[in-house]
Amino acid sequence: METRAIIVAAGRGERMGAGLPKAFVPLAGVPMLLHSARAFDAAPSVSAIAVVVPADRIDETRDLLRGLSKPVTVVPGGERRQDSVRCGIAALPAAFDGIVLVHDAARPLLDAALIDAVAAAAARAGAAIPVLPVGDTIKRIEDGMVRATIDRDALGAAQTPQGFAIALLREAYDDAGRAGVVLTDEAMAIERIGRPVRAVLGAARNRKITTADDLAWAEDVLVRDRR
Ligand code: C5P
Repeated sequence: METRAIIVAAGRGERMGAGLPKAFVPLAGVPMLLHSARAFDAAPSVSAIAVVVPADRIDETRDLLRGLSKPVTVVPGGERRQDSVRCGIAALPAAFDGIVLVHDAARPLLDAALIDAVAAAAARAGAAIPVLPVGDTIKRIEDGMVRATIDRDALGAAQTPQGFAIALLREAYDDAGRAGVVLTDEAMAIERIGRPVRAVLGAARNRKITTADDLAWAEDVLVRDRR
């Protein structure tokens, strides 16, 4: 089944300093976004890539991604992450009826094997996401007091790319939009309309880069890779 990727990189988040949106902060000398884009370019399952960026970075992003071998579309994003995902969905060809993989540019160290595994699971189940087992013991906290310990065997930490049959994702996003729901990932939209989402094993190196410490960790991983 044809599979297309949407990489969302339109966050304004400048928490890591550098005065740049996170997806454009350099990692091993190139913007973080380029790492993710290269992984999708290398994944055999993916036929084309849509990249969602701040409106004032469209031309720069086209130049940045010029070296990729697959067709790349660059479009402006929206206010919230879910708005940017909508912009990415709108950039798909109207007749496209395959699998879409939605990925955060802030997870630059994913590899082609994970992308293909999610794509294959989504093609079978309609929706699939990578999850990692939770290592820490998780507590429910209220008013500064520990109220309960949650059974961590029943928990997983969700990653991206998240894969969906495009018709299902459109239906779920339209429904969430009508209900005014704030989404923290795409799978949440699918869950709330009662449709199943397959969990596949995520990857520790597919960590989300949020802080300067995360960025330093990613630099170290790439240095070790080169040894
Ligand atoms: O801020 P956070 O790490 O949750 O953002 C996750 C991803 O969503 C990032 O790659 C960011 O660029 C993207 N995003 C977006 N549009 C927004 C907000 C976030 O594309 N309005």
